[in-house]
Amino acid sequence: MNTLYLKSFIRCKRKAWLDSKGDKSYEVWSPHKAIDKINQFQIFSKLCNGEIYTGLRACENGYKGVIGLKIKGNFLQNINAEIRPQLLLKTKGISKWGSYKYLPAVYKLGHKTTKEHLFDLAFSSILLGTFQESKIEKGLVISSFGNKVNLEEIYLNKKLRKKVLNVLLSLNECLEGFMPEITQDRKKCTICSWQKFCDKEAKENGYLTDIDGIGSKTALLLKTNGISNTQTLAACNEKKLGEKLSKFNDQKYEKASTFIKQAQAYISGEPYCISNKKDIKDFFEKTCSGFYIFDIESNPDDKHDFLYGFLKINNFFTKKEDLIYEPILNLKNNKRETYRKIIEILFSQKEWPVLHYGETEKTAIINIAKNLNFSFDEIDLLTLRFIDLHTLIRKSWILPLKNYGLKKVSNWLGFEWMQKNVSGSKALYWWIQYQITENEIFLKKIIQYNKDDCLATLQIAEYLIKNQLKKN
Ligand code: SF4
Repeated sequence: MNTLYLKSFIRCKRKAWLDSKGDKSYEVWSPHKAIDKINQFQIFSKLCNGEIYTGLRACENGYKGVIGLKIKGNFLQNINAEIRPQLLLKTKGISKWGSYKYLPAVYKLGHKTTKEHLFDLAFSSILLGTFQESKIEKGLVISSFGNKVNLEEIYLNKKLRKKVLNVLLSLNECLEGFMPEITQDRKKCTICSWQKFCDKEAKENGYLTDIDGIGSKTALLLKTNGISNTQTLAACNEKKLGEKLSKFNDQKYEKASTFIKQAQAYISGEPYCISNKKDIKDFFEKTCSGFYIFDIESNPDDKHDFLYGFLKINNFFTKKEDLIYEPILNLKNNKRETYRKIIEILFSQKEWPVLHYGETEKTAIINIAKNLNFSFDEIDLLTLRFIDLHTLIRKSWILPLKNYGLKKVSNWLGFEWMQKNVSGSKALYWWIQYQITENEIFLKKIIQYNKDDCLATLQIAEYLIKNQLKKN
């Protein structure tokens, strides 16, 4: 057992088991992990003023920061363990290396110090204390906001050490047993490297949490009412199910109907059309004389939108090769110049609607307009031009999908991204790589990705128009 398994175990028991015993060929590379590692190194390096070295030698030499050290040891009932402290930070004290010792430190993304940070520090302190022959009273949680590095001291008291020992015992038991069940809280799966592997099993076994809108609590409610899988849900009577869903108050029948239809679509692979004639007619009328598709790439931690992409569509019959795509890069976060270019594009076709997928793009433009001191009326007029296709497709269709994200929906429609296995996180990873290396190849990848996101959005718009008008 090691620190990585402990961290996984706190999130999902199954993940710890898979990390330790799973067939690695099913594991998918996660950009989140890579981004985390890069951020970690940058902030640790800043904290140690660049005096950061690797391995045991670095401890012996008494360098300020040490990374990449693995320490093996035993704890309780001779359980073998290995810690991989993210950072060891030199401090006053006496250890086997001389008149200094090290404290374990972990990196924190965001504001909240979680169990994961506390247990990581407590576990590290147990083996590190013995290894350096010096007791460890506290650990450090390191974070960065703006340009400032923050240090939070965590006292590793008896209670916390006892807690972590109990968790380690459960982890040990888990690793020695059979593969645990898929977690009830499937939100955790979105950034997990085993997601594809678990999704396949969930679908085969008819997991209720595979149905859009059903979280762990609703799944439990359905199970206590005898509905334990998607097949049973799909065969339910809408009225009877509605009566069981009283927690949704006056929406209970509507929810019941959606859940059942969603389960039926998921099993059959066939979409179900919700009559939404008026909205689609409006949509067609607004877009028939031209529209933009707009998509942003951003680094949420730095609150930096680094690419704004516009795809110009004169009408739905324009060939893909004739479409004009305009990327606006915001490399240095130079707001004035970037905002000027965005507004110039938007107002070059004042009447055109702007299609986007999800709320981010509209919110960003409202903020830009506020920043440029637009009047309330001007902001209102601009906002009215934005059409969220994510909302529109959900109001118009029940699709045979687990969720209605841009990738899922457009993949289902047959759209393929030019670059394989891409995602918003991968684009963010490329952005971070560009910032480190200044190699333009990363910018090209980001631009291609953003253009494809715009084209994928267009494919969804075409689907809505073609199929809904045909059905109604
Ligand atoms: S995909 Fe979900 S259930 Fe599977 S290991 Fe990851 S978090 Fe756990």
